[in-house]
This record gives sequence, C-alpha cells and structure tokens, in this order.
Amino acid sequence: MKIKRDDKVKIIAGNHKGKEGKVLKVLLSKNRVIVEGVNLVKKHQKPNQANQQGGIIEMEASINASNVMLVCENCGKAVRSSSNRNEDGTVTRVCTICNKTV
Ligand SMILES: [Zn+2]
Repeated sequence: MKIKRDDKVKIIAGNHKGKEGKVLKVLLSKNRVIVEGVNLVKKHQKPNQANQQGGIIEMEASINASNVMLVCENCGKAVRSSSNRNEDGTVTRVCTICNKTV
C-alpha cells in the first residue's frame, strides 16, 4: 500500500467521493484506511471517566484503500506517485506530475 499515516488523501470512489482528509490509520492487513472526517459513523458509548454522560459519538470508520489517492502538497491535486529508491536504500514517493517528493 502506498498510503501512509498522516498522508493527505482524496477520496476518488465510493460514497465519500471528493472528500479530502488526513490519514489517521492504515489497516495494512485489510487494505483499508481511516481518514479524518470521512465515513463518520455514530457509536453508542457507555459513560466513562472522560465522558460521564455517555451517549452517541461520531467516529471515522475505515474505507477501502483503493478508493483514496494521495494528494501532492505541491500540486494540490490527487496524484499517482511512484516510488524511488535512494542511494542510501530508503524509498521516497515522488509525484508523477511535479516530480517532488510526497
Ligand atoms: Zn505534485
């Protein structure tokens, strides 16, 4: 999977198409990601110390990673990225439009 935590992504398919947000979590084994503010579901929460009332909270549910695309901060667009192996063996992702590291 090319998407990593804290990446900015755009949703390109599915119910939330067009939305953008930051990746909160990557579920590698399921090929899914959780994106901030996208696919909110209501959950009932029992009262606890932080929230003595309990009640309904909204939280993000995961979406399929193939429905999101990385947003290049330089272009501001959803882009494809290619992976470049550096001389020191590390891998960086490069925007295929502007050739900047993303
Ligand atoms: Zn770019």
